[in-house]
Amino acid sequence: MIPLADAKTMPVFREVDVLVVGGGPAGTGAALAAARLGADTLVVEQFNCLGGVATAGGHGHISKYNEQGTSRRIVGGIAHEIAERIVEAGFGHRNAHGVWFEVEGLKLLLDGMAEEAGAALLYHTFFCDTIVEDGAVRGAVVQNKTGRGIILARRTVDATGDGDVAAHAGCPFEVGRPSDGKCQPVTLMFTIGGVDWPRVEAFKKAYAQSNPDDNEPWKLRGVYAEAIAQGRMRPFQTGNMGWWWTPTRPDQVGINFTHVIHIDSTRAEDLTRATIEARKQAYETLAVYRQFIPGMEDSHMVSTPNTIGIRESRRILADTVLTEDDIKSQRQFDDNICYGSFFVDIHCIDGPGMDPTVWHPPKGFKYHIPYRILLPRQAENLLTAGRCVSCTHIALGSIRVMVPCIGMGEAAGTAAALSLQRNVAPKELEAAVVQAALRERNAILSDNEIRNL
Ligand SMILES: Cc1cc2nc3c(=O)[nH]c(=O)nc-3n(C[C@H](O)[C@H](O)[C@H](O)COP(=O)(O)OP(=O)(O)OC[C@H]3O[C@@H](n4cnc5c(N)ncnc54)[C@H](O)[C@@H]3O)c2cc1C
Repeated sequence: MIPLADAKTMPVFREVDVLVVGGGPAGTGAALAAARLGADTLVVEQFNCLGGVATAGGHGHISKYNEQGTSRRIVGGIAHEIAERIVEAGFGHRNAHGVWFEVEGLKLLLDGMAEEAGAALLYHTFFCDTIVEDGAVRGAVVQNKTGRGIILARRTVDATGDGDVAAHAGCPFEVGRPSDGKCQPVTLMFTIGGVDWPRVEAFKKAYAQSNPDDNEPWKLRGVYAEAIAQGRMRPFQTGNMGWWWTPTRPDQVGINFTHVIHIDSTRAEDLTRATIEARKQAYETLAVYRQFIPGMEDSHMVSTPNTIGIRESRRILADTVLTEDDIKSQRQFDDNICYGSFFVDIHCIDGPGMDPTVWHPPKGFKYHIPYRILLPRQAENLLTAGRCVSCTHIALGSIRVMVPCIGMGEAAGTAAALSLQRNVAPKELEAAVVQAALRERNAILSDNEIRNL
C-alpha cells in the first residue's frame, strides 16, 4: 500500500475513470462493460493479450453455459457474446456446455472487442502496488519498459486472479483449504501437433468398450497406470484432465494434464519451480502418448504457454462470503449478477487425480452469484472479479470457471461505471441498478429469462 502523496512523486502514466488490473476472463468482462457504459477504461495486463488462462495460459476451452444436464442456457451478456463471436469468426465450435477454440484466434478477437468498446489496453505492464487515500483506492503503481509510474483511477477492478490489488490495499483474505491453507495444484497446459485425431477417437471408443466398469473412460487411467508401471513416467498424474481438440486445427490437441502440488502462486520462486517441473512433465507425457496412444505416434510439442495455470490463491473477503452450502442448496440471492452451474471441481491437493471434496451436482443445478461478494472489506472504490472474489475454498471449486468469471467481471465493470455516473461508492450502489443494466445487455438473472441454446 502506498499513500497518494508518496505515489505522486512518480510519473503519472494515465488518469482514468476505471482501471482494470488483469485482463483475464474477469478483467475482459469488466473492461468491456465499463467502456460500453462510457467510462474511460484502461486494462493493465502483464502479458500481451486479453483472456488470461484462456489465452496466455494456453487453455482453449471456456465453460459452462448451461444448467447442469440440460440444454438450457443460463448465461447471457459478454460470456455468451464471446462464444458466439468465436464460432462466427471460425475460430472454434460450441455446444450447450462450452466453447472450444484456437487460442490465437481468441487473442485477436478480444483485442478487437476492446477496441470496438473503446477500452484502452496497456500490455507488458505489471501491477506493483495499490495507491490508497483515506481508505479508498486511488489507482496503482505499475512497472513496464517505460519505467515505474502510477495510474490514477476513480474506480479499480482487481481481476488479477490472485487478488493482488486488494491484498496490497490491506484487505483481509483467505487462501486454500481451511485445514492448512494449501491450494489446488497448478497446471502448465501444452499443445501437441501431428495427431491423427480420428484414430485417437477410435482408440478412446475401444478403451471405453473394454473397460465397461470405468465410469470416466475418457480419462484413460489404464494407459497411465501401464506407463507408470513400466517406469515411462512419474506418477504426477493418473488420468486425463482434458484433451481440447477443435476442427479448426485438426492435427493439434491442447492437453490439460500436468500437475504440480503445494504451490503458492503469489511467490515468484514457487511459480518458477512449478513451471520447470511442469515442462518436464509435459515432455514425459508426450513420450507416453507417442508410445501408447494410436494416432499420437508421430506427435510433437507445439507449445507450452506464457504462464502456468493457477486454480486457487487469495480469496478477498467481503461482508458476504459465498459458501459451499449456498451453492449446493442453490440459494437465491436478491443481488444475483450471474448464474454458475459447474461441479465442485477440486483437484487433489496432495497428489494426482481429484480431491475427495469433489461434488457432482444433480440435473437442473444452477446457483446465484451475488453482487456483494465483489465488494472487499476495508477498501472503497475497489471491486474484485473472477477467481479472487469472496467465497469459501469449496465454493471456489465451482465459481472459478471462466463463464462465471466473465459474468462477475461484467457486473464489476458495470457497477464501477454506474457508481461514477451516480456519484456513489460501489458499496452504496443498489444491486437492482446493476441488474437492470446487465439485463439491458442480455444478462440472464432469473429463471424466466433462461433460454435454450
Ligand atoms: C489448468 C486449468 C484448467 C482450467 N480448465 C477450465 C475449463 O476447462 N473451463 C473453464 O471455464 N475454466 C477452466 N479453468 C478455470 C479458469 O481458467 C480460471 O479460474 C479463470 O481463468 C479465472 O479468471 P480470472 O480472470 O479471475 O483470472 P486469470 O484467468 O488468471 O486472469 C488473470 C489475469 O491477470 C493478469 N495479472 C495477474 N497479476 C497481474 C499483475 N500483478 N500485473 C498485471 N497483470 C496481472 C494475468 O496475466 C491474467 O491475464 C481452468 C484453470 C486452470 C488453471
